Amino acid sequence: MKFSWLNISVPFMNNGPPTITPVSVNWFPNRRCNYECHFCFHTSTNDFRLDLDKAKRALRMLADAGMKKLNISGGEPFLQPQYIGEVFKFCKEELHIESCSVVCNGSKVTEKWLDTYSQYLDIIAISCDSFDVETNMKQGRAEHGTSRTHIDTVFKVAQWAKERDIRVKINTVVTMCVCLLQLFGSPLTLTVIIGKKI
Ligand code: SF4
Repeated sequence: MKFSWLNISVPFMNNGPPTITPVSVNWFPNRRCNYECHFCFHTSTNDFRLDLDKAKRALRMLADAGMKKLNISGGEPFLQPQYIGEVFKFCKEELHIESCSVVCNGSKVTEKWLDTYSQYLDIIAISCDSFDVETNMKQGRAEHGTSRTHIDTVFKVAQWAKERDIRVKINTVVTMCVCLLQLFGSPLTLTVIIGKKI
């Protein structure tokens, strides 16, 4: 089967009904990000974003096929705050999706957004590799690779979410940088192995 408007083919649907139920869907609406994590595999810098009406149509098809959970990731999803907010609203109000979640770096989350859309969001996952500023800097886990505010941001957004009954997760990318800092506590050692995933 081919969805021409999305320009994707679904091979397992060529000979009858789908054999896979997309219970949990992870969607990357766009890959742009304001952070510069060295290990990040989202190297695309294009600005493509599916039109909201088409996105809703695709989500409805996924819900019809069995979607119960939607997670939005990126890139940084909150570079398009209204877009993802409207997606979550649609998923809850129209599709009655059980769980809506987002993975973000926290830097663009605002209380205004949470006041508008928190009722449609179940879980917010914030990326943080360490509670040591220097480790995050070495990982590139920083706005434009230079800001030193990430840890404060994580705690601030976690508190805002908690106040609005949104569950909070911390997503950590475990690299040699993180591990060896904990093992040896030596930044000098780390400069050699920054960016290598284990
Ligand atoms: S915050 Fe996430 S999407 Fe952004 S550069 Fe880092 S790993 Fe990549």
